[in-house]
Amino acid sequence: MQTKAKSQFYRLASWLLWPGLFAAGLVGAGFAFHTAMPLLWFNVVYLSIVAAIAICERLMPYEQQWLQRDGETFNDVAHTLLSKGGVQLAAALGASAPIAVATIAQPAINAPAWLWPVGWPLAAQVVIGLIIAELGLYIAHRAAHEKLALWRFHALHHSVERLWVVNTGRFHLVDSLFKIALSQIPLYLLGAPLEVFLWVGAVTAFIGLLTHCNIDVRTGALDFVFSTPQLHRWHHSRVLAEGNTNYGENLVLWDQVFGTYFNPDRRPPVDIGISGRVADSFVGQFLQPFSKRGFRQILGRKAGHPNLGIAGLEGSESRSDDHTSGSIVEMQNIQ
Ligand SMILES: [Zn+2]
Ligand SMILES: [Zn+2]
Repeated sequence: MQTKAKSQFYRLASWLLWPGLFAAGLVGAGFAFHTAMPLLWFNVVYLSIVAAIAICERLMPYEQQWLQRDGETFNDVAHTLLSKGGVQLAAALGASAPIAVATIAQPAINAPAWLWPVGWPLAAQVVIGLIIAELGLYIAHRAAHEKLALWRFHALHHSVERLWVVNTGRFHLVDSLFKIALSQIPLYLLGAPLEVFLWVGAVTAFIGLLTHCNIDVRTGALDFVFSTPQLHRWHHSRVLAEGNTNYGENLVLWDQVFGTYFNPDRRPPVDIGISGRVADSFVGQFLQPFSKRGFRQILGRKAGHPNLGIAGLEGSESRSDDHTSGSIVEMQNIQ
């Protein structure tokens, strides 16, 4: 009887946690944005949601194996602080670089306001902002998988072998800046108000935390609208056909439009990662994509390996001789 009650509670929690944590984050963000120090309070809310997710990961993990230490926690946090918090020096606690960038850049650019529907309710403006920003995120993320010149930076994110809340922000700085540029520049040019940037940044921050969470959540119909853990686990698959899908960061609209939405009715793989190898240290990981040798390591190719030459790939559209996650070949990009 007790077990049955427990399993019913577990089932209820698994359905409520994703929308509950997302809503809690947004309510907290609403509070933060109405204070005199919005960035500081937003970081407090963000870290509170991180803590709540970390506790839930222990209580009801999606995958036991992903609870094991992988020796990458320091690097995960360091990359998060550098790529997401680097521009938040004033707040000194890394959480959401897009919000910090927008706080400074939006008033400075001051684009013509008539392009943006400023008279609409804020919620509607945020939805439009999300859809536009998401197109930039989609293009940036898909390009990062399909162009080797960009995959060399994005591979760091896919090199993890476990998914949990702490490696949400494990992005190379170049990868992050590219995504911020493509998602935010259109909003600046359209004259979106600062509030829209703040809310788009908040939604991105909390959905981002949840996509990586190792909690046994059920998301059902939400999978058709938002980038959920279920969808993102497929994105981390080693199998190229599974991994080069679900590029959406918040919404999956553009995946559906461009045919990269992938949500089969089976459990996503536990064994995730890339065929190449990233450096062990934080500094090594940061510098690796900039050198020819590091680039080869990332791709999992030895110097002189026939597949490094264009001739070795003639007739091949894909680099997937090993069927592992990574970019579709543009071997001409290898200098
Ligand atoms: Zn990716
Ligand atoms: Zn990811």
